[in-house]
Amino acid sequence: NAKDNGREQCSFYNKQLSEQLTKRVDMERYVANILNKNQLTVYYQPKLDLHTMTISGFEALSRFSHPTKGSVSPFDVFAVAEDTGRVLELGYFVLHEALKQQVAWEQQGLWSGKMAVNVSPVQLFDTHFLAHLDLYLEKTGADPRNLELEITEGVLIDDPEGAALLLRKIHDRHISIALDDFGTGYSSLAYITHLPIDHLKIDRAFIVQIDEGEKFRGVLQSIISMAKHLGMHVTAEGIEIESHLNFLQAAECDYIQGYFYSKPLSAEGAALFLETHCL
Ligand code: C2E
Ligand code: MG
Ligand code: MG
Ligand code: MG
Repeated sequence: NAKDNGREQCSFYNKQLSEQLTKRVDMERYVANILNKNQLTVYYQPKLDLHTMTISGFEALSRFSHPTKGSVSPFDVFAVAEDTGRVLELGYFVLHEALKQQVAWEQQGLWSGKMAVNVSPVQLFDTHFLAHLDLYLEKTGADPRNLELEITEGVLIDDPEGAALLLRKIHDRHISIALDDFGTGYSSLAYITHLPIDHLKIDRAFIVQIDEGEKFRGVLQSIISMAKHLGMHVTAEGIEIESHLNFLQAAECDYIQGYFYSKPLSAEGAALFLETHCL
């Protein structure tokens, strides 16, 4: 009867809920132990300069190994890490690794150039963020001009004034600032004209629409033109096919990043890439 059905449904939902909770607790435990278990490896994805057709820099991207799942998506790890605060230790670890790598390649005579590191909103607003930046730059001896921080539009929304102040302090250190995933958030165009942003990264969502019609190509072209008017460089993210590269080159996009040029590579893989493409 109805009453029993209700009770069964209720226990069904309870079971689902408790499964979700268990998953979440497992994930939090996993995330809390990533560093002491050496489960984070930094990969490096090269970016191509469309003017010179040579490498323009690397983006450091975290890769997480898992004892039973094999690997876990950075999206999933960072979502949990932001909530639990673990994102700070992960973020500083990546920053330190990426700067060490940049300096190592320079000392090996392999390559010198810009290393981009993603910074989560929680990390950017950490009260020790600037102190940590200075510390890792000093520890590694890296030139701040070779560091770029990738931030997302979200940080500009939550606390615009605070963000502007921080970005200026970062900029004063000669570190460049990239606005990542542009076009997927909701930052006001009027607002970004007042921020020291050097570089706009157009989200892959706009790239996959290139073949869907003139309207979509027009929007992409307009974003590139707008960035130029604001004095920013432009990277298009997620280029997988040559025709998209050709379109972007004609549209005067500065850089591309995507599987067409290279997937993210291990440090060894990236060194090999530099040896074969850049020496
Ligand atoms: P993101 O910063 O926008 O990084 C670009 C993502 O696009 C990377 O995904 C990269 O592997 C992927 N990608 C590059 N080229 C292509 C392509 O041609 N096609 C497709 N389909 N994808 C491409 P990934 O490595 O899975 O990272 C996802 C997101 O996780 C990043 O997006 C970033 O927001 C975050 N993330 C990754 N590593 C870190 C990190 O060390 N710190 C922080 N705070 N966030 C990170
Ligand atoms: Mg990024
Ligand atoms: Mg992006
Ligand atoms: Mg993205």
